[in-house]
Amino acid sequence: MGRQPLWRRVNFIPEITYFKPAGIPLTRLQEVCLSVEEAEAIRLKDLERLEQEECAQRMNISRTTFARVLGPARQKIADALLSGKAIRIEGGNFEMVVRRFRCISGHEWDVPFETMINTPPQCCPACNTPSIMPLWPPGLGWGRGDWGKHHRGRRNW
Ligand SMILES: [Zn+2]
Repeated sequence: MGRQPLWRRVNFIPEITYFKPAGIPLTRLQEVCLSVEEAEAIRLKDLERLEQEECAQRMNISRTTFARVLGPARQKIADALLSGKAIRIEGGNFEMVVRRFRCISGHEWDVPFETMINTPPQCCPACNTPSIMPLWPPGLGWGRGDWGKHHRGRRNW
């Protein structure tokens, strides 16, 4: 029964993933947590100003699902802005459009989302070794934990 995939497709992960209001001691600082797909929803709708239909398509989800992602995302940002809370962007159910792989000899290459789903790479295209691993985002079954700790400086997908 043709169900929507769980992963929301994401084109972009912001480089800065933490925002904090000035002049509030850390001990009193409250935080809202924005997931990566919520940030992507805001980016597509409010920054790129795309129609909701197109945003949904870009993220590979239905319009209703997109609205369910966007609504709370906007509310969290408004809450942070007006109540002086920090915003942390991390986690969520998302899949990058492109994933970067690396083999044991250090070759790196990008694998498009569709390819990942249909025929995940089995070996390195340069040296044919089967010892390959996804670099970005880590996790999603390969278990390298919190991507937020690993992504710095790797924006060249
Ligand atoms: Zn290789």
